[in-house]
Formats: sequence, structure tokens, C-alpha cells
Amino acid sequence: MGWAVEYLDEAEKLVRDPEAHAGQWKSLFTGDSQTDSLSTEDEQAAETGNRTDSPLCSQVPGRLHVEVGTGKGGYSLQMAALYPEERFVAVEKNDSAAGIAAKKYDEEGTDNLLLIWNDARFIDSWFAPEEVDVIHLNFSDPWPKNRNAKRRLSADSFLRQYEKILKPDGELAMKTDNARLFEYSLLQFSKAGWPLLDASVDFRREDHPEDAMTEYESKFAAEGKPIYRAVWRR
Ligand code: SAM
Repeated sequence: MGWAVEYLDEAEKLVRDPEAHAGQWKSLFTGDSQTDSLSTEDEQAAETGNRTDSPLCSQVPGRLHVEVGTGKGGYSLQMAALYPEERFVAVEKNDSAAGIAAKKYDEEGTDNLLLIWNDARFIDSWFAPEEVDVIHLNFSDPWPKNRNAKRRLSADSFLRQYEKILKPDGELAMKTDNARLFEYSLLQFSKAGWPLLDASVDFRREDHPEDAMTEYESKFAAEGKPIYRAVWRR
């Protein structure tokens, strides 16, 4: 773990003061510098992009995606490469996992990818109200015991924060191998009034080249476990 914290101290793709960028995340994604704004030409190129292959990544180029609990970071790394017009911020609180993700992002990451190393319970201080287009929850820790339910990333306190930072038509996509967490989350979002846009209890039954596999997902898919997935609108 020591090496991870040491690496994170110097990591280039790590945003150390996320609250300082609330409302201005899009200006951080620039290429070789994290402080310059996109040029007008870049903005125009992004605006005229015409990807139509993913419901989550189609209509509006340049949308801001936030992946909460990225682990070793593979999902956002692949998605950022797959959708160069979109912007991705991966969040991870664990030192070792964040260190691995940061190293990967520095070595292989594209310009549209950044990392926050912190606990997502502060997420509504990092993003301005209605700043985020899509939130991704991939294989979140299930916290099966009731006494730990508040730690689930689909607990009430998280939903309230997601509701605040997502745009009015923003979306949240969740994948898990855990049937109980899936059921709990379906109820949570339903009780909070989020329309369910899509649901599957075996997402990889069909090919989904538009959606990257996470590290956990690859392992579960190799074991033949079904992957549950749902998408909600705010
Ligand atoms: N998403 C990755 C995947 O699918 O391979 C990792 C899944 S792992 C089971 C869950 C990750 O979420 C862990 O790395 C954990 O540290 C992180 N996590 C859990 N709660 C978090 C929180 N409140 N803020 C940030 N990260 C969190």
C-alpha cells in the first residue's frame, strides 16, 4: 500500500482538490494540461460528433460521466478510449486500488479521463448541482448486513446526492453480480421516483460492445455468473 500512496502523491491524472472544480469539470479535460480550457475548435468538434452506438453515450458529445467505486479503474479507462468525445471521472477511496488506477491512467489513459481518490460520500461537494450527465455504479460492495446498509452506494444518502449533481435528464447505470443488492437498488430508486429505463438479469447474454467490462465483471463473466444491470433517469 505504501507504494500506492507514494504514487498517488505524484499522479498526473489525479484531481487532488475536486471541490475546487465544482461547476467547471469540463474545463479540466484538455490533453497535455489539466488547467487550460478546451479551445473553441475543440468544443465545436465535440459538438459535431455523431456517435449513435450507445444509449448512454449517444446524443450529446462531451457529456460528463462519473464512475463511483472504480476499483482498479479499468471500466473508465476503456470507456474513455471508446468514447473520446465524452469525459470520465473515476472515483475510488481505497489507497491500493486508487494507486493502481492512477498508474494505469497515467500510462495508458486518454485526455478525457481523470481520477478522484476519496470517499464518494462527499460527492455533492465535488460537482455542482446538475453538472453530471451519467453516473456509473459497477459491482459496488453489497454490504449484506442491515447495519451496514448506509454504506451501499444506492443507499438514500447517496441517492439524494446523485439527484442533486445529475442533470434533469441525467442517467445512472448500475451493474452487479449480487441479486440482493440489485433488488435493494431497484426498490431504492423506485421509492425515490427515478424512472427505470432499462433492466436485465443477464446483461452479457448478448454482446454489448458499447459497454466495457470491469475487472470484477470479467471475473464473474468467466465463471458464467449472470450480470444484472439497470439504468434509471433522475
Ligand atoms: N468497480 C470495480 C469493478 O467492477 O471491478 C471495483 C468493484 S469493488 C467490489 C468496489 C469498489 O468500490 C472498491 O474498490 C471500493 O473501495 C470502492 N468503494 C466502495 N465504497 C466507496 C465510496 N463510498 N467511495 C469511493 N469508492 C468506494
